[in-house]
Amino acid sequence: MTERRSPRLCPRPLGAASTRRGVTALYPYFASVFACGGGGGAGRSELCVAASGAPFAAVAVRLEGGGGGGSAAGPAGRGMSMPDAMPLPGVGEELKQAKEIEDAEKYSFMATVTKAPKKVFLSSFLSFLPLAASYTDSSDDEVSPREKQQTNSKGSSNFCVKNIKQAEFGRREIEIAEQDMSALISLRKRAQGEKPLAGAKIVGCTHITAQTAVLIETLCALGAQCRWSACNIYSTQNEVAAALAEAGVAVFAWKGESEDDFWWCIDRCVNMDGWQANMILDDGGDLTHWVYKKYPNVFKKIRGIVEESVTGVHRLYQLSKAGKLCVPAMNVNDSVTKQKFDNLYCCRESILDGLKRTTDVMFGGKQVVVCGYGEVGKGCCAALKALGAIVYITEIDPICALQACMDGFRVVKLNEVIRQVDVVITCTGNKNVVTREHLDRMKNSCIVCNMGHSNTEIDVTSLRTPELTWERVRSQVDHVIWPDGKRVVLLAEGRLLNLSCSTVPTFVLSITATTQALALIELYNAPEGRYKQDVYLLPKKMDEYVASLHLPSFDAHLTELTDDQAKYLGLNKNGPFKPNYYRY
Ligand code: NAD
Repeated sequence: MTERRSPRLCPRPLGAASTRRGVTALYPYFASVFACGGGGGAGRSELCVAASGAPFAAVAVRLEGGGGGGSAAGPAGRGMSMPDAMPLPGVGEELKQAKEIEDAEKYSFMATVTKAPKKVFLSSFLSFLPLAASYTDSSDDEVSPREKQQTNSKGSSNFCVKNIKQAEFGRREIEIAEQDMSALISLRKRAQGEKPLAGAKIVGCTHITAQTAVLIETLCALGAQCRWSACNIYSTQNEVAAALAEAGVAVFAWKGESEDDFWWCIDRCVNMDGWQANMILDDGGDLTHWVYKKYPNVFKKIRGIVEESVTGVHRLYQLSKAGKLCVPAMNVNDSVTKQKFDNLYCCRESILDGLKRTTDVMFGGKQVVVCGYGEVGKGCCAALKALGAIVYITEIDPICALQACMDGFRVVKLNEVIRQVDVVITCTGNKNVVTREHLDRMKNSCIVCNMGHSNTEIDVTSLRTPELTWERVRSQVDHVIWPDGKRVVLLAEGRLLNLSCSTVPTFVLSITATTQALALIELYNAPEGRYKQDVYLLPKKMDEYVASLHLPSFDAHLTELTDDQAKYLGLNKNGPFKPNYYRY
């Protein structure tokens, strides 16, 4: 066991940065934090400093040439979201719509997502149930929170929520979330006495849920002052917002805001006499957009933006390309841990959850075809196979096809099995993978759903023809009936099944929240010049640190490299352990 060194939370001098091809190698703030010699798993996770000052290769990766360069950075370049691979949203209204669609897929059970204008789209949100429990107080009066005079138990009225009296209930929700977000809790503990965010004034715009509350309270525990609004007008858990307000957070959000309320809340967070933000945590780019539009001077004090969503990150790359990004930004969305957990592990669990909740199907012996054997497809297939389903794969890529073969799956063309399968699942990120011709040939009761990109993978539009009857049999479940009586069971109208019909595990959200917290700390503490006015991927070391913070939940014990082994592999004993191009 190597010795444990005492915790310290302060930036370390920039030192000699190592440079790799295609990336800008830097010593981030967490170079000091990560470089703990620590013994065993726990030691590695500690916020402590290697006194040696040995060369350290944590890197914040700047995607060369903007979004498209992501693939050079390995896993971050694959999967769902390298900006150049996505349709380019424009500015303003189009951007908002793109974000709404993203949110709807993430957070609504009942959304009817179309390219309809914002108001139509928003009115189609019937509920927000991303997370297991959300207390909605239907007995609440209809008075707008903006009209109410509310104070918390300490006499502060520096907030605007639906009903401050729900605070106690909200606190219980937050405590439940804390159970599966131990990484953030350990960050708080490890930072005790040291406040890496002391002086940070963070203005945030995210979904306000129990999980986000754990993040916000962690940021406060690390020394930050926070003002927060919701990035979606329906996603706020009112009781959680109340609990945050009671705890002293300046939160401006409630479920069912009007569009005017939405911008008012953002404005109240940004525009406050005697308080000026110096960090932004955004989900979707609305807050960033508002500051650019209304308070550009605020950027003089902003040290950095941390952005979570595909859409928001995309917008940042657009600004960067146009030379209009005036502060450094961290792209949390494409960090390795987030991608892995969102794509592979989350889908491995939620495919079954989504299918069971909507159809009560039994999987044993069922024939299932999964289109696409990438991260999402692999997750789905693993879960289905484990339940005794007979799984077929379709692939366009020989490497993924060969992987499927090695994993024991039959690789087929969709046409070869379409008549016999009981379930069709798309996971390709592509469009029109399941066409009307395929749908015509499916057998009675075949279940069709999408786990891949947005709502493009199944040609649902082709089913809206006069000869076919649609029958809504359950929330998110349509029977599409052919003239001969054949029924195809279409789930979530072809949108993402898991995000429409099941919940996102708190543990997955914990990964993202921890990454956001570390990105804020890194940007806030970075010495001037470390980050330029550009969009950065998180340092590999930070990804490793996020993972290590989650290991104690499983009592997992990491093996440490010996000096000899480290030399042999050409690695620093404390990481990073893989090059940026490594595919996990
Ligand atoms: P990936 O690139 O790793 O995998 C997609 C696979 O589909 C690739 O192997 C590709 O060769 C294959 N493919 C493409 N077109 C095909 C076609 N016509 N027929 C058969 N195979 C085809 O991507 P991924 O990480 O697995 O993500 C897939 C999609 O899922 C993306 O759109 C992503 O945004 C989305 N996603 C969904 C969730 C969710 O929670 N449901 C989570 C993360 C990502």
